Amino acid sequence: MSKQKKLEKLNKKMSVCNNCKLRKNCSHVVFGAGNPEAKIIFIGEAPGKKEDELGVPFVGSTGRILDKMLASIKIKREDVYLTNICKCRPPENRDPLPEEVAECWPWLEKQIAIISPTIIITLGKYALNSFLPTAKISEVHGKIIDVEIKKIGKIKLFPLHHPAAARINRKTKALFEEDFQKIPNLLQSKKEQ
Ligand code: SF4
Repeated sequence: MSKQKKLEKLNKKMSVCNNCKLRKNCSHVVFGAGNPEAKIIFIGEAPGKKEDELGVPFVGSTGRILDKMLASIKIKREDVYLTNICKCRPPENRDPLPEEVAECWPWLEKQIAIISPTIIITLGKYALNSFLPTAKISEVHGKIIDVEIKKIGKIKLFPLHHPAAARINRKTKALFEEDFQKIPNLLQSKKEQ
């Protein structure tokens, strides 16, 4: 079965998920979007208001920043896969609770297993800490880290600041943009291994 078909099957199951209380107050389960054959998966925290309305991750102002940065390294949104740790919007955009992350985590694991990317890029501290609970974004952003994911094995993680944080803080924006420019080299060096 193709990766596309496997994702479609998974999305169908996710669409009726009621494993945590986030589903009660949201309009859509925002599975993810992009290329099932992607070499990169970008992972944010959870859908925001616009994402929940449209059922698409990284739209609105945050999505525009991401699109601009992707264009700066000559990668299209359709070339990568975009998703979140939690697939349903937390009320008032609060952080997802640990139990909500725990309930949603198996969906993300399944997405990663199907797509089998070269690199996982986490956006923001929340997504980073879902993989590495004690890591500090201020110390590890822009660095490649090997992580072990149950049932999947070792994978390269590349933590970045969240585009929304880059939007409101000049220093974070500079770091985010600088780290982003490292992505083509990471893909290249992985290809040569
Ligand atoms: S957030 Fe995840 S676990 Fe909770 S209802 Fe939505 S899809 Fe299911």
